[in-house]
Amino acid sequence: MKCLGGLSNDIFTKLLEFVNELLPPGASLPKNTYEVKKYMNELGLGYKKILVCPNGCMLFWKDNENLETCVVCGVSKWKQKESMDDRSRKGKRSPAKILRWFPLKTRLQRLFISSKTSSQMKWHAIGRNNDGVLRHPTDGMAWKTFDSQHDDFASDPRNVRLGLSADGFNPFGNMSISYSTCPVMLVPYNLPPWMCMKRSSFMLSLIIPGPSPPSMNIDVYLEPLISELKELWEVGAPTYDVCSKEIFTMRAALMWTINDFPAYGDLSGWSTKGRLICPCCMGNTQSRLLKHGKKFSYMGHRRFLPSDHRWRMMAKTFDDNLLHHNLDVMHIEKNVVDNIVGTLLNIDTKSKDGIKVRLDLQELGLRPQRHLVITAAEKTYLPPSIFTMSNKEKEDLLKVIQNVKVSDGYSSNISRCVKLQHRIIVGMKSYDYHILMQQLLPIALHGSLPKKVIEPLIKLSGFFKGICYKTLRLEDLDQLEFRIPYILCQLEMIFPPSFFRVMVHLTIHLVAECKLGGPVHYR
Ligand SMILES: [Zn+2]
Ligand SMILES: [Zn+2]
Repeated sequence: MKCLGGLSNDIFTKLLEFVNELLPPGASLPKNTYEVKKYMNELGLGYKKILVCPNGCMLFWKDNENLETCVVCGVSKWKQKESMDDRSRKGKRSPAKILRWFPLKTRLQRLFISSKTSSQMKWHAIGRNNDGVLRHPTDGMAWKTFDSQHDDFASDPRNVRLGLSADGFNPFGNMSISYSTCPVMLVPYNLPPWMCMKRSSFMLSLIIPGPSPPSMNIDVYLEPLISELKELWEVGAPTYDVCSKEIFTMRAALMWTINDFPAYGDLSGWSTKGRLICPCCMGNTQSRLLKHGKKFSYMGHRRFLPSDHRWRMMAKTFDDNLLHHNLDVMHIEKNVVDNIVGTLLNIDTKSKDGIKVRLDLQELGLRPQRHLVITAAEKTYLPPSIFTMSNKEKEDLLKVIQNVKVSDGYSSNISRCVKLQHRIIVGMKSYDYHILMQQLLPIALHGSLPKKVIEPLIKLSGFFKGICYKTLRLEDLDQLEFRIPYILCQLEMIFPPSFFRVMVHLTIHLVAECKLGGPVHYR
């Protein structure tokens, strides 16, 4: 009740006092919030506070627990400017930064104490339909390969498979408070689809303090979790299983991490910036720093086409020199939609179709018909792009987006984001992008632009719809994998190099990700 209703400690204590008054004498309900927390601790649901260097260099934990200052930067672990309030409480100093750690072992053990969850923890091995359709991560290639490499682990289906989600978020949402915390969550993938991705199944593991997201030093904060995971992988923990009424050694494995693209860099160590940005293409990432746009462009999708395709011969149309591999789909989809909408409405400052974009086209020798023209009166003139829309056309497009009704009644949110007078869309949430990409865009684009422009965009919309189904068939995935390079090549023929930020490129790897990890919504 306290958590659901967001009750303050004070009110919760008052509620406990009131209920205690109603109970007969000798009842053992806790008297106040503090006692409740002690109970929770004993149930294995408590957390530990670990002091952190204010600069995030190290934890004051284990051997370093009693140190006063950081061994890296020398800063004290205590708050320096203590307020009057703190000083009045003699001898009690307040820590500068605290990491909250919710130990995993006891939480996993609890899954086997309850008969409801204990039986379901074996679902992935004995409860499911094995017909080649991807319904759950257990149907994916990554899981199967893992099993074949670790017989001993796979032989007991009770061993726990986990996914780690680390995504910086602002708990206060749009209230634009500069304080942000980053929760690290674990998902137990042993459970069946109808339990696995429920909020009640997620396990909070760490709360990393703000104000800035942890970025490069995330490994410092992950230390307690990593040390627990290592122990659970190498040694395991004796655990009582209520179903078989026996104690077994429970082990755990971390299958993958769930994160947006910048966090991917921090967690994997592969730099998600600059020339070799793509963690799948790695050394073969095709990139070019745009001389005028001053941004990297990631094009060259001809190399993903079949080797005999005629587009491979069209060097004048494409910018590349024919060089011969866990990505977050929602995050990529959002960025791609941003890119498309920004380019079509020409409102996106990063890839605005202006002089810089045209100078880069000129530099690369692409699309001569759209290079700058210097007129007789020494004025520059930008010949219109094939995707250039008049203000009237932009308004028509936005009106359609504003008025289309989608099946789940969600459109009203997007309607509010459309600002007709400024011809922009602002304030969309992740799910809005999803709806816009997969449902609204194909409808809105009809009739507003030449077929050549609309066609690949509608196909791209279909592609995202295709990979986001709750169950996936391998044949369908093969089809989608075959199609995506064509779509990207078509887009390369229309949009300027600045359009091809890394998020557009990453779409090429999404089908492979589905084959590895199963349906998208599990990750
Ligand atoms: Zn430090
Ligand atoms: Zn790549």
